[in-house]
Amino acid sequence: MTEAQERHPFLLSTAIPNRRQRRLAVGIVAALIAAMLLVAPFAHVGLPGTEILIPGYAAAAFLIELLTAAFLFALFSVDRSRAVLLLGTGYLFSGLLVIPWALTFPGVFTPLGLGADMQVTAVIAAGRRLGFAVCILAYALTKDRKPRDRIRGSLGRVIMGRAALVAGVALTLVLAVALRAEDLPAFMLDARQVAPFWHYIPVASAVLYLASLAALWARLRSTLDLWLMVVLGTLLIEIILISYLGGGTRLSTGWWAGRVFGLASASLVLFVLLSETTTLQIRLARSVRSERLARESRLTAMEALSASIAHEINQPLASMITNASAGLRWLDNDIPRVGEARSALERVVRDGHRARDVVDGIRNLFKKDSRERVPVDMNRLIVRVLRRIEEETHLGRVSIEADLEVGALPVTANPMQMEQVVSNLVANAVDALSTVTDRSRIVRVTSRSLEGEVLVTVEDTGPGIDSIVRHRIFDPFFSTKPEGMGMGLMFSRSIIEDHGGRLWMSDNVPYGAVFHLTLPSNPPLSGSDR
Ligand code: ADP
Repeated sequence: MTEAQERHPFLLSTAIPNRRQRRLAVGIVAALIAAMLLVAPFAHVGLPGTEILIPGYAAAAFLIELLTAAFLFALFSVDRSRAVLLLGTGYLFSGLLVIPWALTFPGVFTPLGLGADMQVTAVIAAGRRLGFAVCILAYALTKDRKPRDRIRGSLGRVIMGRAALVAGVALTLVLAVALRAEDLPAFMLDARQVAPFWHYIPVASAVLYLASLAALWARLRSTLDLWLMVVLGTLLIEIILISYLGGGTRLSTGWWAGRVFGLASASLVLFVLLSETTTLQIRLARSVRSERLARESRLTAMEALSASIAHEINQPLASMITNASAGLRWLDNDIPRVGEARSALERVVRDGHRARDVVDGIRNLFKKDSRERVPVDMNRLIVRVLRRIEEETHLGRVSIEADLEVGALPVTANPMQMEQVVSNLVANAVDALSTVTDRSRIVRVTSRSLEGEVLVTVEDTGPGIDSIVRHRIFDPFFSTKPEGMGMGLMFSRSIIEDHGGRLWMSDNVPYGAVFHLTLPSNPPLSGSDR
């Protein structure tokens, strides 16, 4: 694949033709050859009076070639390849010259007073054919140039400049031949029959076409190359029909068939360009849409993240406020109870540290080493979390039971994140118990080592989770609590999955919910864990 193909894999000038396109191209050439052979026996037959069709033919050719040029210039504006610009130039030149060719065609516009020397039309036809052939050859020879050869600068100026240049050259040619008709080479014997000198033109064109065909064949890279080869094949057939099978006689069956072939070949490129442009547009629309979706989901992720930051910080902050108020109350006593006040303040300090750790942890998410994983003993981590939470659970009259596997449960994890997950699950369980009045309020944390995994469960005897909302509890912002942010479970699940584990919930028997988390286990720890 060339660099241009990597940059613009969808463009006609860079897309690699597939097998189906190649087969279709071969099929079209075969059909054209068959059509030529069908026409061949009648090619000599003259069709007098058909001059009347010339303006129609010319108008069609003019439109098709100009549109093709416009599409090629549009293609150039994307891939900026000099070769595509040259090809567009060829089509524009050919399209523009078809007008004076028709206007000067003997017997067509004579009633309008438009007449010219019979050589004029032939010279314009020769200029048109050779100019186009040279442009195609130039395309074939320059198409694989390095990207640094690409044309830079203002696109509008380059394209308008090129169009003005082509129009200027075409106009100069027409004016020159019209004004110097007497000096023109004798291409025509009369209005219908070409002179022997004319034969250089089809031969020269055929040589140029064959050279282009060989160059394209040798370096067939893009869909455009493929269809240009078909066009060249059609143009060769056109020459054979017009100049040889038709006996060089204008308005013969062969001559007209050649014209039709010429139109067909021009329409072919136009058709391919059109269909490719439509495909390109569809792809663009799709990629814009998926880009927008990706941007939206990035935004949602950012919103989720900022909400989770607030969530994680709010927990220690709330606890700090409670403890600080308690401390103040102890001091406001008639006999200030300094001991209690001191321990309340110690809890404030501890929560302050925790809030700072949360901020550090979240900031670490964005750092390269945020994914830093170290050996962790899950049992010790659970004990640490439960100790910290004890204070709050005491206030809520919740009893916490820990049923941990004997010994260490080694995993590789980010200890900060793991603590957040366990404390989220326990805090949720404690919250769920707040409405329970008719039975014991118990949160039970268990840990087990299974095959290659560590399983931790957090059970409670709360109301459990309604089956209607069960599928939503891991969604961001889903919360049934008045002050809840609904980020805890989402955050916990993403942390656990990031560690290669799973987090899910099931019903506890007879009451409440159980949250299960698994993590891949490590070989037993050798040193101290974190
Ligand atoms: P928050 O705690 O801010 O509401 P979470 O994501 O941690 O956010 O929880 C989402 C919801 O899941 C809670 O609002 C609650 O309805 C439900 N939930 C979580 N844990 C439990 C539990 N142990 N028992 C009952 N419901 C729970």
